[in-house]
Amino acid sequence: MSTLSESTLIDAEGYYGTFGGAFVPEMLYANIVELQACYLSIMAEPSFEAELEILLRDFVGRPTPLFEAKRLSARHGYQVLLKREDLCHTGAHKVNNTVGQILLAKRLGKRKIVAETGAGQHGVATATVCALMGMDCIVYMGEVDMARQQPNVDRMRMMGAKVVPATSGSKTLKDATNEAMRHWINHPADTHYIIGSAVGPHPYPDMVARFQSIISSECQRQLIAQFGLEHPDAVLACVGGGSNAAGAFYHYLSDERVMLFGAEAAGLGVETGHTAATLNLGTNGVLHGAMSKIIQTADGQVIEPYSISAGLDYPGIGPMHAYLHEIERVVYIPVTDQQALDAGFELSRLEGIIPALETAHALALLPTLDLPHGSTIIVCLSGRGDKDLMTYTKYLDQYTQSAN
Ligand SMILES: *Cc1c(COP(=O)(O)O)cnc(C)c1O
Repeated sequence: MSTLSESTLIDAEGYYGTFGGAFVPEMLYANIVELQACYLSIMAEPSFEAELEILLRDFVGRPTPLFEAKRLSARHGYQVLLKREDLCHTGAHKVNNTVGQILLAKRLGKRKIVAETGAGQHGVATATVCALMGMDCIVYMGEVDMARQQPNVDRMRMMGAKVVPATSGSKTLKDATNEAMRHWINHPADTHYIIGSAVGPHPYPDMVARFQSIISSECQRQLIAQFGLEHPDAVLACVGGGSNAAGAFYHYLSDERVMLFGAEAAGLGVETGHTAATLNLGTNGVLHGAMSKIIQTADGQVIEPYSISAGLDYPGIGPMHAYLHEIERVVYIPVTDQQALDAGFELSRLEGIIPALETAHALALLPTLDLPHGSTIIVCLSGRGDKDLMTYTKYLDQYTQSAN
């Protein structure tokens, strides 16, 4: 296992080892180079930091609590601490990134925002900050996803965003991302593209990870202040594109005392063909502007992923995670739909917190770990489960019968 420091994780060209880079069409070259050249200096400006801090505090509701889940702890024999990203405005961690990126877009002189969304969570987080800042907002969303996630489409429209159906391919996230990129290519001068996870061409993976790193920096402070602990024994997070995991791991990457675990969506099972376990099944390839691991056929066709959770069924993964997997700094464990459902119902009943189905994948790691009794484990509670009630409800009888 290698150790890394935050400054050496990514190189000057935007590579994490052999993963990352910026594979973009000619037409986007100027935009990407502009972003690469100035994202770090803008983020370091005192006026930017001050404005971001106020928005994170008063609009997003940070710091989010680090909550000791006592009944869940007793069940698993660990001290389980929940980092409550579900309490962020809009109900998940995604707004940490959209707040940061919209401030950056303003400083770049952009007046319009384009975004892609799968389940609609990133679209809502983007529409939210566009309304806040008075910016035009266009969100591309697969036609199939629009039908499946109607409430999120309504939320975006309510806040003034234009939701455009992506009608090509499988009409889901991958296609929406292609269309959003195409829109940006056609409007490079006045538009900023807000990507929703730690994916895409450099500098997006690093920029998104930095905006989300507020999660682990708060954990460090809260662990000391509330529990007198310098570090946890382990941190758990679910991994779709990898943004909440990147944020939850970020300040612990160079601390070898902290074990890091990512939960990938295995769907019906890694071997079933109905899965989204990218790191366990993927091979090297370029998707959406970066070299990473992709679930693809031998001749490079992307295989449609599957998971019960809409936020995790992405056929790729951020390059940072492909690298952390390769150097074995983080262990990525596949979690099935069934394991996630079990964990979602368990948290609801033991702690009175209904987690997002994505988040339930991270919680499902608890019974699979073999750590010493009493270990302190932080779980990144990435989002709340209100949006998943229709899915949970289908299984309610099963859990009600087996509850006692
Ligand atoms: C979108 C989403 C995820 C997955 O995205 P990451 O970029 O991997 O964090 C996880 N949890 C929730 C609640 C989400 O909305």
